[in-house]
Amino acid sequence: MVHRSGKQGRSGKQGRSGRKAGRQRQRQEGPGGTRCADRQRKARNFAVAKFATMYATHYRTNTCGELREADAGKEVTLAGWMHRSRDLGGMTFVDLRDRFGITQLAFNMSSEAELCGRARKLGREFAVQATGVVQVRESRNKELATGAIELVVTKMEVLNTSALPPFTMEDETDGGEELRMKYRYLDLRRAPLRKSLELRAKTVRAVREYLDGQGFWEIETPNLIKSTPEGARDFLVPSRMQPGSFYALPQSPQILKQLLMMGGMDRYYQIVKCYRDEDFRGDRQPEFSQIDCEMAFVAQDDVLDMFEGMTRHVFQRVLDYNLPPMQRLPYAEAIARYGSDKPDLRFGAEIHALNEAFAGTDFAVFKQVLERGGSSAQESGGSSAQESGGSSALQGPGLIAGIVAKGCAEYSRKQLDELTDFVKAPHRGAGGLVYVKWAADGSIKSSVDKFFSADQLREVATGMGAKPGDLLLLVAAKTGITRKALGDLRLELARRENWIKPGDWSVLWIVDFPLFEKDPDTGEAIFVHHPFCSPHPEDLAYFDSDPLRCRALTYDMVMNGNEIVSGSIRIHQPEVQNRVFDVLGFSQAQKQEQFGFLLDALKFGAPPHGGCAFGLDRWVMLMAGQDTIRDVIAFPKNNAGRDLMMDAPAIVDQKQLDELSIAVKLKR
Ligand code: ASP
Repeated sequence: MVHRSGKQGRSGKQGRSGRKAGRQRQRQEGPGGTRCADRQRKARNFAVAKFATMYATHYRTNTCGELREADAGKEVTLAGWMHRSRDLGGMTFVDLRDRFGITQLAFNMSSEAELCGRARKLGREFAVQATGVVQVRESRNKELATGAIELVVTKMEVLNTSALPPFTMEDETDGGEELRMKYRYLDLRRAPLRKSLELRAKTVRAVREYLDGQGFWEIETPNLIKSTPEGARDFLVPSRMQPGSFYALPQSPQILKQLLMMGGMDRYYQIVKCYRDEDFRGDRQPEFSQIDCEMAFVAQDDVLDMFEGMTRHVFQRVLDYNLPPMQRLPYAEAIARYGSDKPDLRFGAEIHALNEAFAGTDFAVFKQVLERGGSSAQESGGSSAQESGGSSALQGPGLIAGIVAKGCAEYSRKQLDELTDFVKAPHRGAGGLVYVKWAADGSIKSSVDKFFSADQLREVATGMGAKPGDLLLLVAAKTGITRKALGDLRLELARRENWIKPGDWSVLWIVDFPLFEKDPDTGEAIFVHHPFCSPHPEDLAYFDSDPLRCRALTYDMVMNGNEIVSGSIRIHQPEVQNRVFDVLGFSQAQKQEQFGFLLDALKFGAPPHGGCAFGLDRWVMLMAGQDTIRDVIAFPKNNAGRDLMMDAPAIVDQKQLDELSIAVKLKR
């Protein structure tokens, strides 16, 4: 009996069927009552709703986020957590919180002394159910969506008590990150995390909506597979049935989605976990989520159009924001103009190449760089991949270049010293920073006054689009170093000068990446994206003679300076795939061992195909305005790859190791 009433209560339809169900129960029980009937009546008192919404359940008629002035006079039941309480004279006020918001409960000492006394004893995070009448508040709380009303409580039940939480559930909590990760289920009760996860859910819904509408099928691929080369280390899973053998967790479903195209699926997507055992540089997680997509019988523009459309759809649905059409910027140009393959275009400060402007100078620093042999083609970002960026360009010829810091002519010695240290940091490697201040009164002051006249510098400044009041910052070094230093410097200036307006978006495609780059340690050709990207048809001529010059049909989508999507048109001819493996130094046996099944599949009429993958975590992070992907993942790992809540990874029983035929030998 109890069971049945529980079920009815949970059906979520109390509003419509509660009374009827109650009448039916009365008929079954007969009037008056057994203990069972009492219990049912009690439940009914809470559950029978005079006013209920889709969130109504056995425990509540409404949520803590939905009552408004228009609901005044209604009797409702809420359930949630005791967020905060205040005793004011004869009244006690309790903020009751659930996923949907906060509602103020009011308890009156003079009319409901016993109830009010119990309310005063509620501890933080107690789970509470309260019934009462909605009343318009005397003074409205503008911070709360429900701030116009309060619930004058007539009944209250503690559903569960709570130990004292280790930190406050406020937006700005007093808990450090490690503590919050240990108690992640409590951290999730805080509004910022809850909102991020809501935005994530909306994003995924909008993605599915778009892709389903475009005829994509969501197809799952296995997690226990063979290594997929995405350039990281694999996580391995030992096989018990085949001692000594291991599965690899997918770094991405790359090969599998290609095989789905060969299997005739035409349009595939999957919201999928990927696993990469990388060092914890920056904001990374060992497992992360991709929106993985692939299409058959497509060329590059088909893929770019489709996923530009998806991005715009999601922005519209989730942020109610109309993204303008996306620029498609060649990689070489991005590197030459912004010093980065993920440029942030929310502000200007483009890099200007100045080798020609300073040709013939006696200033030793510039002269040396010019003598290193920077030609104009290289200076301005020539068309081939090698000339224009990537690691090989770091060894390339010299480049004098600069950026304009708008309105910064009054920078102090200290500020300029800080910027100089910034470009000289070892990972940027510039030897120094030349400044030219073009004061508002038209005068010029620079760190190279001795070598150049004011008129000369004014001419350079004018050529760079500067105006009086602006500051020029110049670097002279190997091409790659100059570009990297200035690329980073423009970001640093944007940060210092607040050049980026909140709510602005810069979303663009970078196209024509190099196919290969030089391994900085071994000097050998390695792939830039992954080994299945199609060479650019225009560059096939260099493929054997100078593979580093060869571009790929590879593209990234860059959002506010972050790489959000990577993809490519894939190789669909076995002989081209073989040639790429050859350049990458795979022996015949290695090719067969690692990719035999793919090379076989390519022989059976593989269609031209291509696709991409979105980094879901980072995309949601940007839309949620968060700084780390940990804030948009329900249960993330910390910076050292640990799950602090579950305490993983952990040592396992000897018995488990024995079953797997594994002996652990720790490195000293
Ligand atoms: N598998 C690729 C990645 O994870 C994406 C793609 O090429 O579709 O970056």
